[in-house]
Amino acid sequence: MQGLMMNAPLTISSIVHHAERVHGHKEIVSVTRDNPRHRYTYGQAFGRARQLANAIDRWNLSLGDRIATFAWNDYRHLETYYASACSGYVCHTINPRLFPEQIVYIINHADDQWVFLDPDFWPIVEAVADQCPGVKGWVIMTVPEHMPETERDNVLCYEALIAEENREFDWPELDENTACSLCYTSGTTGNPKGVLYSHRSTVLHTYATLMPDTLGISCRDVVMPIVPMFHVNAWGNPYACPVAGAKMVMPGAKMGDGETLATLINEEGVTMSAGVPTVWLNLLNHLRASGQRVETLERIIVGGSACPLSVMEAFDAYGVDTRHAWGMTEMSPLGTTNAAGAQREGFTAEDFAKVRTNVGTPVFGVEVKITDDDNQALPWDGKAFGSLKVRGPWVCSSYFKLDDSEAHAESGWFETGDVATVNRDGYVSITDRTKDVIKSGGEWISSIEVENCATGHPKVAEAAVIGRLHPKWGERPLLIVVRNEDSAALTGDDLKGYLDGKIAKWWIPDDVQFIDAMPHTATGKIQKMDLRDMFADYQFPDA
Ligand code: AMP
Repeated sequence: MQGLMMNAPLTISSIVHHAERVHGHKEIVSVTRDNPRHRYTYGQAFGRARQLANAIDRWNLSLGDRIATFAWNDYRHLETYYASACSGYVCHTINPRLFPEQIVYIINHADDQWVFLDPDFWPIVEAVADQCPGVKGWVIMTVPEHMPETERDNVLCYEALIAEENREFDWPELDENTACSLCYTSGTTGNPKGVLYSHRSTVLHTYATLMPDTLGISCRDVVMPIVPMFHVNAWGNPYACPVAGAKMVMPGAKMGDGETLATLINEEGVTMSAGVPTVWLNLLNHLRASGQRVETLERIIVGGSACPLSVMEAFDAYGVDTRHAWGMTEMSPLGTTNAAGAQREGFTAEDFAKVRTNVGTPVFGVEVKITDDDNQALPWDGKAFGSLKVRGPWVCSSYFKLDDSEAHAESGWFETGDVATVNRDGYVSITDRTKDVIKSGGEWISSIEVENCATGHPKVAEAAVIGRLHPKWGERPLLIVVRNEDSAALTGDDLKGYLDGKIAKWWIPDDVQFIDAMPHTATGKIQKMDLRDMFADYQFPDA
């Protein structure tokens, strides 16, 4: 027997309807090139999104066509998200930190029809425009007086484009499985792969991000998404905030600047923010140097790469709860969150330090398993390491225009490429990327755990561990470190001594090498492939 409930489609236009009616007066604050503190309301935002939809409508695109964005977190980017998806097109967010050849590849692979971009990115885009013959035009997200000079004739100004348009537009009724947005993985090897989100997956993911033990966004929150809208839809914040009625504060190009972030937090009353560990280090450095505090900030969501315990403990001193999360572009991105901070009084200090650094438990809607090399499920005992696989309604079922990927080899599951343990309470610890795993004497060493410990040393700016060949053990860990600016005296022995007692003795790296700067991927993760190249001929002193 079938249930007798309405089959209302889960579409992004339903977010617009709800937010306009219920939270239309709530504010969106943005830092842009033409206004250091632009502010307006959700009501105004969606009115302008309709104006933009009317303008796009004149381009006679077909449903499902891709409209790309190349932009910081700000209100015009938000309007473009909604105007394109609610009109039945696909908003393809491009990471401006990709190499030019990757940008050309993904614009052509996605078959982008129009590209919306911040004036900051025009030099990058103009340089590759001729290599993107399918693009019909470029819209610069600014006012006429800030338009860059160009010889190209298919370059429009965003404000001029929408100025005369009507604020009324009837969003089409879409099937909930219609594609709404597209994001390419940064791809450390091979070409980037496209993840195509649907209206349904986005709405379900929005519900998930609102749950109290995930991002827990409510109408009382003032949310500052630092995680970029050009990477996995800013972890869903642009959808969750209008649903909850949370005020949004968007830092634009200043997302990596500790001083701007602290000022925005204090002046706008930010209660919650989300970003990768590096931005939190920038904020901490600024707070330490300036003596400023961030009294309104209640919690930060940290993900994208492992958050060191030292960062969490530093934020404790500012009264900020650090919530670790794990996910991927292929997972919209939310997979697990660690809400241990909400129950910290139930733990001893030592247990709390242990429990908070793992990435937490699966969010309801995401099922996880770990498997061995024969694809047999491993126990959730906190010890067995295995390949982490996931499934759920906001996990990608295949890549865009790519039918057979190894990650989808097991029907119904997605292989994340991460190696993890899961304890009996369902807490997941990410120990490595599969390709970064270090096997010493047949046993795995978690490079992430060693890196986290090393980063806790006050003289270490960044640390990475890679496996290098060793005649006796097969592989041994090599620790590669960037020292803090004023820490030239830090030695390898200092660091090995620091790690002693904090991690298993046989995990202590055999050697430490110092470099001036860490190589990073376009999403800010340490590029271990480059480190392996850099140390390709390296031999351990005792080998
Ligand atoms: P991306 O698709 O670029 O967001 O990258 C996803 C990958 O980032 C995951 O597969 C993990 O390897 C890594 N990652 C994300 N969050 C975390 C975390 N909290 N701890 C460790 N690694 C993480």
